[in-house]
Amino acid sequence: MPAPQSAPAEAASPYAGLIRPSIERMQPYSSARDEFEGLAPVMLDANENSLGSVGPADFSRYPDPHQRAIKAELARLKGVSPANIFLGNGSDEAIDLLVRLTCTPGQDALVVCPPTYGMYEVAANLNDVRVERLPLTPDFQLPANAAEVLAASAAKLVFLCSPNNPTGNLLAEAAVTTILRTFKGLVVVDEAYADFANAPSWTTRLGEFPRLVVLQTFSKAWGLAGLRLGVAYAAPALIAYFDKIKPPYNISAATQAHALAALAAAPRLPELRAELLSGRAWLAERLPRLSFVAHVFPSDANFLLVRFTVDATAVYQQLRARGIVVRNRTTQPGCAGCLRLTVGTATENARLLDALTEIQTELAAEATVVP
Ligand SMILES: *Cc1c(COP(=O)(O)O)cnc(C)c1O
Repeated sequence: MPAPQSAPAEAASPYAGLIRPSIERMQPYSSARDEFEGLAPVMLDANENSLGSVGPADFSRYPDPHQRAIKAELARLKGVSPANIFLGNGSDEAIDLLVRLTCTPGQDALVVCPPTYGMYEVAANLNDVRVERLPLTPDFQLPANAAEVLAASAAKLVFLCSPNNPTGNLLAEAAVTTILRTFKGLVVVDEAYADFANAPSWTTRLGEFPRLVVLQTFSKAWGLAGLRLGVAYAAPALIAYFDKIKPPYNISAATQAHALAALAAAPRLPELRAELLSGRAWLAERLPRLSFVAHVFPSDANFLLVRFTVDATAVYQQLRARGIVVRNRTTQPGCAGCLRLTVGTATENARLLDALTEIQTELAAEATVVP
């Protein structure tokens, strides 16, 4: 009998050479909740405490390792399939798993586009993965030769943040598309701020690009940073690798319950978003009237990057002395003289603007005293 035709699976897979060989080979952990789904009158398979929990709430049972209820709701809301979704303990877990899934420590590299979110590089360093830098242009877009540079790179993944943190802008759609067509590694588009942007999400393009991973989070527009829930959207075959390597019970029962309640309240999201956008517009209109403000960068996020004509660290410290904490980004590449201001409540925004007005007057007075 002839041997069955073995398909050239490696060559046909869009992930050939991208997944660490040790991960391809390994057996995933099989949890008690994988081996028995549902409820029986007597559950003695997971070494839980059937007597109940210490403390006021009952958390005696392990949570659903596949978070089916959340994925069903989120899939409906986002117009994707539950098989396109990975849920993580914050986006940070998704970032870490992406690095570990593709990069062999001490051997492989990933690409970041500074100035950008610091966690990509931290995850690389933690995993002993080399970092290649593809700096953004002075207006914080991908450089014209980005696709060319990436096509020549053996890096396993590139992190694109859009809208970008700390700059606030969306990356041009055409530049990202070209990279998706030409780069051989995974293209991670971090959309932590997508809810504030005036552009369709890259989740709408998942069907076109098997190597696209879109990151979103409940930490920003949803106002649930304390919950720790991040989302990766990708092709089902790639999500299956996340499921293979994730800690089995990575989303707690408390998080799952709160996330479901938040998803049920999703109709409130546009109202919250509109209020933040109006706060952003209010600040963006008034900040440039301060003479020590050199530039307010256009923002598609819930913050504004502001360049000062004076020492930004002095402004930062003066704000702190007035009980207002912002993010000092002046040492980031391309961000000299810049502070990143999160849009807050109307009262907080007004306090921020008042404080900056005072600080400007003080700095101007100091400057005239010095001969
Ligand atoms: C805030 C932020 C996140 C969110 O991270 P979580 O771990 O989900 O809280 C992710 N990416 C960027 C670029 C961010 O600014």
